[in-house]
This record gives sequence, C-alpha cells and structure tokens, in this order.
Amino acid sequence: MTRKLYIGTNTKMFQTGSEAEAFIRRMDELIDDIRDRLEFFFIPSYTSLERSVKAVGDRIRIGAQNMAWEERGQFTGEISPLMLDEIGVRFVLIGHSERRHVFRETDEDEARKIRCAADHGFTSLLCVGETAEQKNSGLAAASVMEQLKQSAGTLKAEEVPGKLWIAYEPVWAIGKSGVPASASYAEEMHGVIRTALRELFGPNGDDIPILYGGSVNPSNAVDIISRKGIDGLFIGRSAWDPERFDSIIREVLPVFESRNDD
Ligand code: PEP
Repeated sequence: MTRKLYIGTNTKMFQTGSEAEAFIRRMDELIDDIRDRLEFFFIPSYTSLERSVKAVGDRIRIGAQNMAWEERGQFTGEISPLMLDEIGVRFVLIGHSERRHVFRETDEDEARKIRCAADHGFTSLLCVGETAEQKNSGLAAASVMEQLKQSAGTLKAEEVPGKLWIAYEPVWAIGKSGVPASASYAEEMHGVIRTALRELFGPNGDDIPILYGGSVNPSNAVDIISRKGIDGLFIGRSAWDPERFDSIIREVLPVFESRNDD
C-alpha cells in the first residue's frame, strides 16, 4: 500500500474566522482529486475551529493550536479537551516553537498536555527542535532527543499508533527570520528522531510520522521531501495562499510516492 503524505498548515494568529473558512473551503476543492493520497490537516485559531469543522466535515482534519492539560478549572485563557471535543476537534498541536519560546512552555508542560490528549483520544502533533545556540554547540541531537523523552515519554507504546505525530521544527528555521534547514540536515535529524522514537516505543516508534517544518517554500519543498525518513511537511507562510499551497502539494506528492525508504 502506498504511504500517505502528511501535509498541513498552522495559521498561527493570522486568519480571522471568515478568512480561515474561505481558505479551508478552497483547499477542500483544490485537493479533492488527491485527498486519498494525503493526511491533510489545518490548524487555525480557536475562533475558526468550529466553522472550519462545519465547512469541511471529516474530509479534512482540523486541529487546535494548543490545549490545556485539564478538563476544567481555574485556567483563564486556556481551552479544554472537552470544549474541543464538543465541536468535533480531536487533533492538537503541542509544543510549537512559539508556545515554547514566546510563552515559555516547558517540556513538563508539553508532557502534561500530551498525556491529557492521549487520555481524551486525541491525536497530538508534537513539535520538537533545537535552538541556533544548541545547534552551534553541537547539541542539536541531544536536545531534540531530550525534548522527545521529556514530552512524550509518559506515553505507553500501545498508545502511540495513530495518536502521536512529530514535527521536527528547528527553532532557527521557523518564521520570517528563519533560515530553512538544508534537506540533508533535515534528513539527518529525522534519523535521530526515529532512533529516539524506537528507543521510547519499540517497533511502534517506526509508525510515528515525522514531518519537517521551518521555512518550507516552493523552492525547497521537493528537495526536502525527496529525503529518506521525512514523512511530510508542516508549512507556515508558504501555505497560506490556497493555490500556492496546492501547487507545492502537487509537486512534492509524486516525489514522496516514488521514494523508496527500504
Ligand atoms: C511554523 O511556524 O511551524 C512554520 C513551519 O512556519 P514557516 O513555514 O512560516 O517557517
């Protein structure tokens, strides 16, 4: 069976509800003929979630950008798994670089969220990635392995199939001031992550998709996806125009499908 390409976007704090709905309706039309070959996902702001789910039903996986580790309580400004579940959202981004570095979330916070997501039957997309300083000190592999161990280490091997996805997003590669990782560097780090996942979850670690994210754009997407061990792409800015996103998807898909990782 051909493997599916994991691909999607997080719109951060950019689109309003009507903008997000227009975007996802258009993506729904554009990818219609290839959707069976994709694990396509869309992660808009909280106020766009319900209308996005209503717009595309189960044809596109809709995810939240964050989630609290409790169902209820004195957590002003947080969103509970019960609230997401009620509107049909069971996919959540955990530990995005901006959560870790702007809002100072720790691996311990991410671990509690990952645990809570698993307890509620959610699929988590856990982001890990080293800072420029860690990379320059030769600590990229160690820091990413540590993040994985600390954030996802409480999950049992039997809990991960289909429920844990990883995004490797080097902090220095993300956003406007980011420099995209070279395809060979991304490949090497994906290998490190796969090894860590096997250590944590045994053979089930082999089935966890690992996506690359960080300044993916029309000129580097094909090179990145052609590399062994890269199961998909998590794209920010270059994905926010539907036609442009669709054309990236159509360029990378055949390259991904023709790859032989064995
Ligand atoms: C991101 O923020 O996760 C991301 C990948 O953004 P960009 O593609 O814009 O670097």
